[in-house]
Amino acid sequence: MKILVLGGGIAGLASAYAQFCRGDEVEVIEAREAVGLETSFGNGGLMSPSLCEPWNQPGVSKIMIPALLGGKNSMLRIHPKALPSLALWGLRFLRNSTAERFLEASRSDYHLSNYSLQRTMEVVQENDFDIKFQNNGIMAVMRDKATLEHAAAVHAGFGEFGLEYKVLDKAAAIAQEPHLAHSADDLEGGIFFPDGQRGECPVFCSQLSRLMTDKGVTLRSGVSVKNILVDKGKAIGVATNQGNILADHVIVALGNHAAPVLRTAGVKLGIRPAKGYTITVPVEAELPKTIMLDIGLHIGIIPMLHDNCLRIGGGAEFAGMDATFYDRYAQRSYANLERTLPHLVPYLRREEQQTWAGMRPVTFDGKPFIGGTKVENLYVNAGLGHLGWTQGMGAGELLADIIAGSQPEIDPAPFLPAR
Ligand SMILES: Cc1cc2nc3c(=O)[nH]c(=O)nc-3n(C[C@H](O)[C@H](O)[C@H](O)COP(=O)(O)OP(=O)(O)OC[C@H]3O[C@@H](n4cnc5c(N)ncnc54)[C@H](O)[C@@H]3O)c2cc1C
Repeated sequence: MKILVLGGGIAGLASAYAQFCRGDEVEVIEAREAVGLETSFGNGGLMSPSLCEPWNQPGVSKIMIPALLGGKNSMLRIHPKALPSLALWGLRFLRNSTAERFLEASRSDYHLSNYSLQRTMEVVQENDFDIKFQNNGIMAVMRDKATLEHAAAVHAGFGEFGLEYKVLDKAAAIAQEPHLAHSADDLEGGIFFPDGQRGECPVFCSQLSRLMTDKGVTLRSGVSVKNILVDKGKAIGVATNQGNILADHVIVALGNHAAPVLRTAGVKLGIRPAKGYTITVPVEAELPKTIMLDIGLHIGIIPMLHDNCLRIGGGAEFAGMDATFYDRYAQRSYANLERTLPHLVPYLRREEQQTWAGMRPVTFDGKPFIGGTKVENLYVNAGLGHLGWTQGMGAGELLADIIAGSQPEIDPAPFLPAR
C-alpha cells in the first residue's frame, strides 16, 4: 500500500515511520528544503505528560479580554486583525473550557503523551539515535497564594489518571531547586512534576528522517502541496508545485497548513496558529537543574544542561501566520528570567543569543486531530498545539493503527477529527 505523508515536521515523520514499520511504501512531501524546520524547529524541547492540560482552562474567558486589549508587555495577545478568523473557533474554544471538558481533554492528552514518550524512547534506543536527554523535573513557579491554591486544586483532579506531582511551599520549592533562593521574596511555592524530560526535537526529526530514507522511504523536500486529489469520494493523491503524486492513502500532517489544504477536499478542521518564541542564550555560570514554568502565563526557563545554555520564552499570540521574532519578546523573556533567576543575569552571553518564533497549531479543545475524514483514504495527524514534540510519535502510531483497523493501545475516540 502506498502512503503519502504531507509534512515533514514531527507529526509527519512520526506517521511516516509508523506506516513504514507496518510495511507500507511511504513518501513524505515537505515544502521546505529539509525536515523539521517549521514549528518542530526551535520549540522548548519539553517532553512531559505532566503538562497535559489544554489552554481551555475553566475561567479562560477572564484572561481573553486583557489578551485582546493586550498591552505591549502581555505574554498573551489576540490581535484585532486575527479576530475574524478566530470568531467561530473562539466560541468553540470557550465552549470547551468547562470543568468537565477540561478534565476530559487533560486525561486524553495525558494518556497520549505517556504513550508517545514511551514510543519516542523506544525508537531512540532501538536505532541508537545520538540525542541528549535530561530528566530533572519541571517546577511550576507560583508567586502568590491564590495561584498556588488554584493550581493545586486543578492538579488534584489529575491525580485520578496517574499524573505525579508535589505541591511545595516556599522552603520546599527552594530545597527542590536551590537557584530559586535568589528570588525567594517573589516566591509563594511551586508544583513540582518529577516526570519532566527535555531533548532536541529537530535533532530527532533529522535522525528519524535519515533512518527512514536509508531504508527506502522517499522524502521529497522542496515540494509544496497545493490541493488534495479526490475521485468519487476517495483521496487518490495530491497536486503539488511539481505535478501530481498519486497514492492509496493520504495523511495530512501539515501543522498550521493542514486546515487550508484539507479544505481543498471539502474537509474543515478547527486549527488556529498561536505564535510563541524562544531565545537560547549561553550562560557562564552553573545552571539550575529544573525546568521552570509559569504555566498560566505560558512562559518558561529551560536549562539546556549539555550546552550550558538557557532557553527562555513562551508567549501565546494570535496574530495570523506572522512568525517574525520581535524585540519585545526578548525584553519580556529577559524580564521573566531576571524575576526568577536574577543572579544569572550578569553571566548571560546575550551577544550570542539565538532567537526563534514559531506557530503552535492549536485546536479548539486542546486535543490533536488524529484519524480519518469524510473523504475515504484521507487522514489527519495535526493540531498538536503546545505538545507536539511530546505527543508526535504517539500520534503517528495511533493513526497507523486506525488506518490498519487494528486495536490501538490508547482510546482513539477523543482525537477523531469529526468530534
Ligand atoms: C514557542 C514554542 C514552544 C514549544 N515548546 C514545546 C515543548 O516544549 N514541548 C512540546 O511537546 N511541544 C512544544 N511546542 C509545540 C511543537 O513544537 C508543535 O506542536 C510541533 O512542532 C508541531 O509539529 P507538526 O509536525 O504538526 O508541525 P510542523 O513542525 O510545523 O510541520 C509541518 C510541516 O509541513 C510543511 N508544510 C506546510 N505546508 C506545506 C505544503 N503546502 N506542502 C508541503 N509541506 C508543507 C512545513 O514546512 C512543516 O515542515 C512548542 C511550540 C512553540 C511555537
